[in-house]
Amino acid sequence: MIKKVSNSTTKLIDQFGRTVDYIRLSITDRCDFRCVYCMAEEMTFLPRDEVLSLEECARLVKIFVGLGVSKVRITGGEPLVRKNALWLFEEIGELEGLNELVLTTNGSQLEKQAQDLKNAGVKRINISVDSLHADRFKKITRTGELDKVLRGIQAAKLAGFENIKLNTVLLRGVNNDEARSLVKFAIEQAIDISFIEEMPLGEVGHARESTFCSNEETLNILKSEYTLTASTETTGGPARYWRVANSATKIGFISPHSHNFCERCNRVRITCKGELYLCLGQEDKIDLMPLLRDHPNNDEPVIEAILASMAIKPKGHDFDLRRTEAAVIRFMSHTGG
Ligand code: SAM
Ligand code: SF4
Repeated sequence: MIKKVSNSTTKLIDQFGRTVDYIRLSITDRCDFRCVYCMAEEMTFLPRDEVLSLEECARLVKIFVGLGVSKVRITGGEPLVRKNALWLFEEIGELEGLNELVLTTNGSQLEKQAQDLKNAGVKRINISVDSLHADRFKKITRTGELDKVLRGIQAAKLAGFENIKLNTVLLRGVNNDEARSLVKFAIEQAIDISFIEEMPLGEVGHARESTFCSNEETLNILKSEYTLTASTETTGGPARYWRVANSATKIGFISPHSHNFCERCNRVRITCKGELYLCLGQEDKIDLMPLLRDHPNNDEPVIEAILASMAIKPKGHDFDLRRTEAAVIRFMSHTGG
């Protein structure tokens, strides 16, 4: 169930009075896939010493939970290709005050890791799937094997997570004819699905405007096939949910281009370099890595910097598909989706 977790010990309140109780932490910029909307074919990844160690990730999560954060999403890059990633989940899984430890993954490692992740305390899991045709799946991810991901989804179902949700980016002329079949699959599997509008993050070699597929259009297509009822559930982000009649499935539409959600924004992002980004679509950030490394035994300077960052969290994002340059040059895999 999606619920807004209220936490009376919350200390992170920004300049507009919004409470921040949700962090998304990218634990690697690396990935075994090269999805066309996310990465260039040839990527240069960060050297290991420029990436937070897993110990530093755990320390940061503990600090944020101490500041009232109750939901943590681990993401990447592909978080599960990071060596010993499970250690991190085990280290933070049972933290008091952390009500929701959740994960976003491409599913390629789930067949092996789903049960351990569940045992470590991961409550919910988002798995990215953009096509149910193996050849198309390969074309979109450039390296991914659909079968492996489908086996990963089955492993996640067997492991018994509270919720499993597919994440799908529809691209015009590539996979936008699959909205119906992906929803049918989600209904058959009794899991949820969210459609994410493509965001202009990073230079990926195609004009985003030509592939952009609006959620409004997708919703209309789905309404012609299913009886959908708008749901009031919200995670404080850009997602709106619809329930599908006579099924266990919820359909989410994540429309980052809309500004309607910014006033309720409850989240910040931390990159694998320890940069705390206050908004996905803006450049405002502070660097936590030097503070973590200069003060290995004293959390106070890190806490002070995080508290001070609340004064620079922007009012809203600034995505515009008509721009010729990417609105924000960093890749989603760097910032964490
Ligand atoms: N590798 C994992 C995965 O694919 O789920 C986690 C990281 S990925 C960056 C997180 C989510 O961001 C995925 O669902 C992916 O589809 C989405 N994503 C990546 N680049 C995007 C873009 N330019 N616009 C919209 N969504 C994007
Ligand atoms: Fe990798 Fe996820 Fe980006 Fe695809 S969307 S390239 S799986 S990080």
